[in-house]
Amino acid sequence: MPSSIDDLPPLRDIIDRYGLRAQKSLGQNFLLDLNLTSKIVRQAGPLEGMHVLEVGPGPGGLTRAILAAGAEKLIVVERDERCIPALEEISSHYPGRLEIIVGDALTRPYAGLVSGERIRIISNLPYNVATPLLTDWLLTIPWPGWIASMTLMFQREVAERICAKPNSKAYGRLSILSQWRTLPAIAMEVGPRAFTPPPKVTSSVVQFEPIKPLPCQASRLEEVTKAAFGQRRKMLRASLKSLAAGGDTGSLLERARIDGERRAESLTVEEFVALANSVREQAE
Ligand code: SAM
Repeated sequence: MPSSIDDLPPLRDIIDRYGLRAQKSLGQNFLLDLNLTSKIVRQAGPLEGMHVLEVGPGPGGLTRAILAAGAEKLIVVERDERCIPALEEISSHYPGRLEIIVGDALTRPYAGLVSGERIRIISNLPYNVATPLLTDWLLTIPWPGWIASMTLMFQREVAERICAKPNSKAYGRLSILSQWRTLPAIAMEVGPRAFTPPPKVTSSVVQFEPIKPLPCQASRLEEVTKAAFGQRRKMLRASLKSLAAGGDTGSLLERARIDGERRAESLTVEEFVALANSVREQAE
């Protein structure tokens, strides 16, 4: 029986046919309901005529929904070679629209994948590489460069860190980097039972819309957030010591107009940007 969104066989049949037993080491929790994958894909906005990147297509649940939604071109990066025949079957169904790259998504030079096109990234990310991949994309230079938007599924706890506001437990480096360059919002939640096998935790889809960020060097912002949140219980005048010339955090904080008795979790994104610029000025 053909599936609800295309004439390809149901995902369960594909998984049986190609022996795609999920492997924990690869963060494999598959989505087999094509109505659900279509709903996730809709969060990304219109795909007609768009180019899309998907990391970790697995047996192809999201892949099929992205192509059925009209993406002109979809590039997928999958590490598990067992999934390639299943993806090739999808490729034959949508001739010339699916490009399959076999390899580790962490080592791809993404900017070179595309020729002048802006791309929507849509992925149910493997949990073990989700944060490094997101950080890498968020630090793309120039911003937003090749990225049109990102629609990414994470464990709920990671999604909450991305969207967290100051003075909350979840607020940290990931919140600052995400909110410096994008407007992130939790678009939908997906319970464990939607996956095969079910993970222990709930997942959330986060929609990231790129914004014009406040001017600041990404590397400086990374440096400052790392130092400040590395010792988040300490006052900034102590936690930022490693960044201040001669360990004197006074002038560093003064230039940024920030009280040294405050702690990292109380600073807004704008204040972190001011601190990063103060570190840069000090080095000049
Ligand atoms: N997109 C599919 C879905 O939603 O059903 C599968 C998602 S599953 C959570 C993550 C996928 O990422 C798996 O197919 C896994 O093999 C792949 N993967 C894991 N680590 C990877 C890496 N470093 N590079 C590329 N793909 C990876």
